[in-house]
Amino acid sequence: APSVALFTSDLRVHDNPVLNAASKGDGGVVPLFVEDDGVRATGFAAPNRRAFLADCLTDLDEALRSRGGRLVVRTGDVVEQTAKAAAAADARDVHIAGGVSAYAHRREERLRRALEADGRRLHVHDAVITALAPGTVTPAGRDHFAVFTPYFRRWQAERHRDVLRAPGRLRVPDGAGSRPVPRRRDVPGVSPGLAAGGETEGRRRMTAWLRGPLDRYAQRQDDLAGDATSRLSPHLHFGTLSAVELVQRARKAGGEGAGGDAFVRQLAWRDFHHQVLAARPSAAHADYRTRHDRWRRDEQEAEAWRTGRTGYPIVDAAMRQLAHEGWMHNRARLLTASFLTKTLYLDWRLGAAHFLSLLVDGDLANNQLNWQWAAGTGTDTRPNRVLNPLAQAKRFDADGAYVRRWVPELAGVPGLEGGAVHQPWKLSPAAARAKLDYPEPVVDLADGLARFKRARGGD
Ligand code: FAD
Repeated sequence: APSVALFTSDLRVHDNPVLNAASKGDGGVVPLFVEDDGVRATGFAAPNRRAFLADCLTDLDEALRSRGGRLVVRTGDVVEQTAKAAAAADARDVHIAGGVSAYAHRREERLRRALEADGRRLHVHDAVITALAPGTVTPAGRDHFAVFTPYFRRWQAERHRDVLRAPGRLRVPDGAGSRPVPRRRDVPGVSPGLAAGGETEGRRRMTAWLRGPLDRYAQRQDDLAGDATSRLSPHLHFGTLSAVELVQRARKAGGEGAGGDAFVRQLAWRDFHHQVLAARPSAAHADYRTRHDRWRRDEQEAEAWRTGRTGYPIVDAAMRQLAHEGWMHNRARLLTASFLTKTLYLDWRLGAAHFLSLLVDGDLANNQLNWQWAAGTGTDTRPNRVLNPLAQAKRFDADGAYVRRWVPELAGVPGLEGGAVHQPWKLSPAAARAKLDYPEPVVDLADGLARFKRARGGD
């Protein structure tokens, strides 16, 4: 009998346990993607991710066609549509990747019930979306790790599954039907500098990354203007690249002590946040550690932050990169998140929501838990550390190139004396400063810090 491979965050033919298992039998395979009304209803389908997703589906369809198959697209409720597709093909088995969010857990449960009622079976595959499945390594007596370092030790020592070959020929049973594959050009409101999606593009980037820049990753990962990180995050989010394969290849390419180690460590952070969310799905919205923060409310300050007009050039540069590319450098994410939650003392949920409305790699596990980490409500073991935006700017954008790239109002600020481009309020004479169409700082850093310390009770 045929099988259904239900694609979710695993839009690839290489190293995909879901597709491989579904295409093993001789009855053919229905490679299915459902444009899920449920996801749309959550508001999660922001334009940048919809556009990138369209690229991924187009490329996946081509990869399947080159193997004699094609992608079957349906629209509606993911459970109903999958059940219908399975019934139309009279498939006995449906395969899907295990997810970590509350939504994914519910989808799995509903799917299992609907299929079993019809005499079919759901198979959930592990280590498709992450390198290690959540729960593979746990501390004694607990269901997940709350601290990264001990997690990472176990993650490194654990045997990861082998990389799978892409399937050869595929046959899609007759009568599977399909809606047209969505196209990127049909998605309005996309950031002008949004990257291209799809497995072909992901693999091209991965290969280029492993051959060259990976070597110097450890030295350059925090250099804002150098832009020397992999930019593979959207491919990991949509699963156009397999985390298992990337870890394995980075380990081989990086060798001992080179960029490979530092890079693999970042990939483990991704797994770490996934295992936290899998065990505590509520952490997507509620504080992971309850701190009883009484966040301030100030819509003007929040809006200044969102639009990149806080008067702190390093913060504004980062927020404008986000709007323009739908992506932001990790160091920039950290310092803008710290600025919102600790300097302005505004609720992390507000920042996380803004990020999710734009980030092409916007991911419930990585975004919400990194936000909680930065806000000190999550897994940071030093929850009350505050990143000083000026110190960060001087350290990670020493010559101001990142600020000049993203804040054109400051592009002409001469030289670096006193870090002028990072502190335009210090420019003299005052007349030169008045000429800049650039706002004064929304808050005094010392005041912000004092307020935060009072609020957190100095612990
Ligand atoms: P590289 O430096 O090349 O790292 C390689 C890969 O490791 C990344 O692609 C990513 O999958 C993983 N990784 C790196 N850093 C982290 C991290 N801190 N946590 C989890 N995984 C990591 N990442 C997302 O994928 N989606 C998000 O929605 C997201 N939101 C974030 C929000 C905040 C406030 C912060 C501080 C970080 C967030 N990150 C998020 C993590 C990180 O910033 C991005 O993964 C990284 O910047 C992506 O760029 P890259 O692929 O060039 O990373």
